[in-house]
Amino acid sequence: MQTMYFYPCSEEFPLSQHFGENPGMYRQYGLSGHNGLDIALPAGQPVYAVADGEVVLAEGQGTSCYGRQVRLQHKEALSLYAHLSRIEVQEGEKVVEKQLIGWSGGAASDPYAGNTTGPHLHFELRPAAGGVPGFGGAVNPLPLLCSHDYDPAAVPIYQVQVVVPALNLRTRPDTASRIAETAGLGAEFSILKEEEYDGMLWLRVQTPLTRFLCARQGSQTYARHLLTYSSRPQSENWARSVTAFLRSIGYTGPAPQEEH
Ligand SMILES: [Zn+2]
Repeated sequence: MQTMYFYPCSEEFPLSQHFGENPGMYRQYGLSGHNGLDIALPAGQPVYAVADGEVVLAEGQGTSCYGRQVRLQHKEALSLYAHLSRIEVQEGEKVVEKQLIGWSGGAASDPYAGNTTGPHLHFELRPAAGGVPGFGGAVNPLPLLCSHDYDPAAVPIYQVQVVVPALNLRTRPDTASRIAETAGLGAEFSILKEEEYDGMLWLRVQTPLTRFLCARQGSQTYARHLLTYSSRPQSENWARSVTAFLRSIGYTGPAPQEEH
C-alpha cells in the first residue's frame, strides 16, 4: 500500500516561502534555494505527523538553525518540523498519521526558535532515495500532501470549465478565506460537491488539498458546467509513493535500499 502524506497543520494559513525560493539567501548554507515549505502559522498552533512513523529526533533545546524540532522516519522518507514552541513526542516513540507531535513557534524572542524572523512552521520531506540535488536531500513536499479529510475514493459528480480570465481556488467556501491558487480561462476541474451560500454557488474541487471555487454569484457565471459523470470516472489516485514522485519529476537518484 502506498503511503499518504497528510498536511502537517491546518490548511487555513498561507505559505510564506515555497520550495526552491530565494536561492541567494540559501547559498550561504550550500543550498540552491529554500529546501522546505514555510507555513505562516502563528505560534501555538497544532502540528501533526504527516504519516505513520518513528520519532528519530525530538530536540527541545535545539541550537541549530532549525531550533526546537521533531524528525520522523517514515517508510520512504524523513519529515522535519522546525521552529516549534513545544514538543509532544519523545525519541523512539511510534506515531500515527495526523497525530499531534508539537506546537508551532518561531518567535524571535525564543532562544530555541532557531534561525527565524517570526512565527512559522518550516517543513521538510527528505526521501530515503535521495532528494533533488542542491536541496540537502529534500524534495518539494507540496505535491505529496493531502488534506486531513482527503478521500481517494470520493467520486466527482461533474466537471466545470473556468470562463473568466482568472478564478481563485480558496481553502474554504468563503471569499474571506485564503486564496490558494488562481486558475486561468479554460481550466477544467472535477467537482466533488456543491454548496450554496449567500447567493454564491461554491464547488469543492477534487484535489488532494481542500480547494473551493465560486462557480456563480447572482447572475455572474465564473465556471460553467461542462459534463456530468454518468459513470464512475477513472479515479485519480493522489496517494503516491515518494519514489514514484521523484520519477515523475525526472530525478533518478540512487535506488532505495531493499527491505528484507
Ligand atoms: Zn523554511
